[in-house]
Amino acid sequence: MANVAKKQLQLGLSGADAAAALLDWYDRERRDLPWRVGKGRKPDAYRVWLSEIMLQQTTVKAVIPYYERFLARWPTVEGLAAATLDDVLAAWAGLGYYSRARNLYKCAQIVANQYAGRFPESEAGLRELPGIGPYTAAAIAAIAFGAVTTPVDGNIERVVARLYAVKTPLPAAKPEIGRLARALTPASRAGDFAQALMDLGASVCSPKRPSCLMCPLQSECAAHWQGIEALLPARAAKSERPGRVGLAFLALREDGHVLLRRRPEAGLLGGMLEVPSTEWADTLPPVAEALRGAPVRAEWWQVPGVVAHTFTHFRLETLVYRAIVPANVSLTFWADPQRCQWLARRDLDRAALPSVMRKIIAHGVREQ
Ligand code: SF4
Repeated sequence: MANVAKKQLQLGLSGADAAAALLDWYDRERRDLPWRVGKGRKPDAYRVWLSEIMLQQTTVKAVIPYYERFLARWPTVEGLAAATLDDVLAAWAGLGYYSRARNLYKCAQIVANQYAGRFPESEAGLRELPGIGPYTAAAIAAIAFGAVTTPVDGNIERVVARLYAVKTPLPAAKPEIGRLARALTPASRAGDFAQALMDLGASVCSPKRPSCLMCPLQSECAAHWQGIEALLPARAAKSERPGRVGLAFLALREDGHVLLRRRPEAGLLGGMLEVPSTEWADTLPPVAEALRGAPVRAEWWQVPGVVAHTFTHFRLETLVYRAIVPANVSLTFWADPQRCQWLARRDLDRAALPSVMRKIIAHGVREQ
């Protein structure tokens, strides 16, 4: 134990060396990402913000095509603010966590209209804006404005927990890891340092098999020195994701239109379009009862199989009922007609439909 304490003390004293070694490595090995600029150039805050919002809960690979499409269509925050929410939601469709898209739009409007198109430079100022929490504020402040702060996401958490051999399980270890990350942050190039930690966590200090032999921090790393890198960060036992079930009504009009409904603004998938469905609950209602609540009176036919989809906090299984209906069909009271619309099937690709609804439609139109 005495040796461990000695190593940790050395780490504390050599934080500047660790930062310098990491920045050298970053200059050689950094990932080429569309929102990054060359060494010594100042990144545009709009691009940094857009990429950071998209990267919340999503992989770099999934984000790149969305980022490029958004930037081509709305190259400035003023341009994005002048779009409609529907356009933004439709462009976001498939990227998940749709409250991010609504907040992105709100934030663009505030920055364009109340801040003359300039993002606040401080973490505190950034946190006042919709959709910007502590991590994103620190990332934008460091990367776009050079603030001496370190955003701590899952990758950085893992690197820092290993570097200092933090054995307290997550999430209880978060404050300690945050303090250690801040202490390690150099006074200059804080944005590059944050991105270097992100890259190290994504490519070298991977969750299961870190490539310590290729790591620029190997000589500084307490977990590696103790041989426990693969065991960190420790995590408190997770509870199983609960399951929910629902029944979706896919009404197809003879003239090639599909019945869709706008979800309420607040809550999961808020403001997105859905195939009208029963509540997502622990158990299915009796089918006869569910069919009485269908959005149109029709001969409903159950499409064989179920559609499974995993959300962050629960797993959903949906049964799909399908009906072909005439073009002049009326909606029932249960459809909540004010929120409904008939959309041409050829326009579905551009609609603000979340992935789960695309799966339901794809499943429901099989075997016609
Ligand atoms: Fe991660 Fe290994 Fe580098 Fe330590 S030495 S930071 S465990 S890759």
